[in-house]
Amino acid sequence: MFTFLKNYFLDLFDLFYPNICLACSQKLLKGEEIICFRCESELPQTGNWLEADSGLVKRFWGRVPLQGAATLYHFHKGNEVQHLLHQLKYKGRQEIGEHLGKLFGNQLIQANSIIKDVDLIVPVPLHWKRLKVRGYNQCDFFARGLSLAMNVPWSSTALERTHENISQTKKKRYDRWGNVADIFSVCDAEQLKDKHILLVDDVVTTGSTSEACLQTILKTPGTKASFVAIASAR
Ligand SMILES: [Zn+2]
Repeated sequence: MFTFLKNYFLDLFDLFYPNICLACSQKLLKGEEIICFRCESELPQTGNWLEADSGLVKRFWGRVPLQGAATLYHFHKGNEVQHLLHQLKYKGRQEIGEHLGKLFGNQLIQANSIIKDVDLIVPVPLHWKRLKVRGYNQCDFFARGLSLAMNVPWSSTALERTHENISQTKKKRYDRWGNVADIFSVCDAEQLKDKHILLVDDVVTTGSTSEACLQTILKTPGTKASFVAIASAR
């Protein structure tokens, strides 16, 4: 009787406050969480974690030495991935980050990717001013999801962002390197020392911000680095 009543009230609650898929906005069915099964199978996965020299890895060639680099989805204007990232970043839906982190972490382990052999997961930090306005760093939740799936610790206290870098988008690609190179600094080298660090970001476009962050990490003795993001723009 109790179970019956519980289900009755849950169904009633669902009628007024339906859980919707945060990618396609359709109502979630029983057993679905955050993203519906259809979206989970149809969102455009890159599969680039299966290639040693993917286009993404090549984006970093000659710029920063990496063990591996991978992104879960392709990102383009107007697609469901952009919708997901927008909600994660600006609408307070942090659970998207953790969900995708778990999903991607499991993929990396199953694929026996080099990226699974990491010692510490580090999200790209937000500048404190940005953090104060938004209230959270969207990359922290992605890092936590990866950490849970991969059984590797994560830390948001090893690095800090010292500059906001607002003017960056107005500059030409070449100028950006100089502009971003010193926007991060290490605040706890002991956490990084002699480790394979997995840097995580939400979306990668030119790769210049993640490159700057990776270069900062690699200044610490004995470190190696890999990089993952939820999505990459082609
Ligand atoms: Zn959906």
